[in-house]
Amino acid sequence: MTIRKVTVLGTGVLGSQIAFQTAFSGFDVTAYDITEEALQAGRARFEKLAAVYRTQVKGGGNGKAEQAAAAITLTADLANAVREADLVIEAVPEVLSIKQQTYEKLAELAPQKTIFATNSSTLLPSAMKDFTGRPDRFLALHFANQIWHFNTAEVMGTTETDPEVFHEVVDFASAIGMVPIQIHKEKAGYVLNSLLVPLLNSAMALAAGGYADPEAIDQTWQIGTGAPAGPFHILDVIGLTTPYNILANSDDENVKQLAKWLKDNYIDKGKLGIATGEGFYKYS
Ligand code: NAD
Repeated sequence: MTIRKVTVLGTGVLGSQIAFQTAFSGFDVTAYDITEEALQAGRARFEKLAAVYRTQVKGGGNGKAEQAAAAITLTADLANAVREADLVIEAVPEVLSIKQQTYEKLAELAPQKTIFATNSSTLLPSAMKDFTGRPDRFLALHFANQIWHFNTAEVMGTTETDPEVFHEVVDFASAIGMVPIQIHKEKAGYVLNSLLVPLLNSAMALAAGGYADPEAIDQTWQIGTGAPAGPFHILDVIGLTTPYNILANSDDENVKQLAKWLKDNYIDKGKLGIATGEGFYKYS
């Protein structure tokens, strides 16, 4: 594997986690964000992550987590950030135009050798590839929130991604402690959300239709499959706002009804999940 220097674009929720995990795994990491203010927020995120890794991640003690935080170079200068990068991981907002503009700039500023990877959750890499100036060295590398705990990395190229680049990114994902999930062709939702979204929607349809209570539905799933958590517990962990937005934007009337049920019974009552202390369950 030739990847040593990694640049992460965006120091928000996921970008900060990707940068931290990569630095913690011994790579040379630069984190880029657009303003000094955003970089300050990024720095604060790295400090919080250091505390999490110190207590929750194997090998995070003895100052190793703090060393990882301190080793990350933060900059608002994109040219400097990518000048020597072997791999750029993009975690900027989930807005296609922002991503496309970012790749147009990157195409000019990064050396031809640099591999570009998007962490986008809902946009396909083929919607961005023509802006990269190197569609053969571009693919998706999708991490999950709380990367240190939920350590899958879904790797998904377009029809133009060079197989060698794909395998290099798979090796990189392993090298930073992820379990790489190889996806052979483009699929919206990757593997995880292709499985999870229908499960969550079916669970909500059962509860909204009055067939069974959330507790009974979770119990059924847990006992019947051995899963550690049921769909309503998972929804509480995710927070109900994101699933609501996805449901409300559907063209399907039945799905829209689910959004209304979620809004009337939970969201409008401030029950947004674990973050607010109550969702489908109460949390102390
Ligand atoms: P976020 O809003 O927390 O962070 C986005 C960051 O990008 C901010 O720090 C912002 O200042 C910065 N930014 C804005 N414009 C930029 C630009 N032009 N160039 C560089 N940086 C810019 O978002 P997030 O939740 O970290 O999501 C980022 C990406 O990761 C999205 O594509 C999202 O789909 C994906 N993702 C998010 C999650 C999640 O659970 N939050 C999980 C998997 C993947």
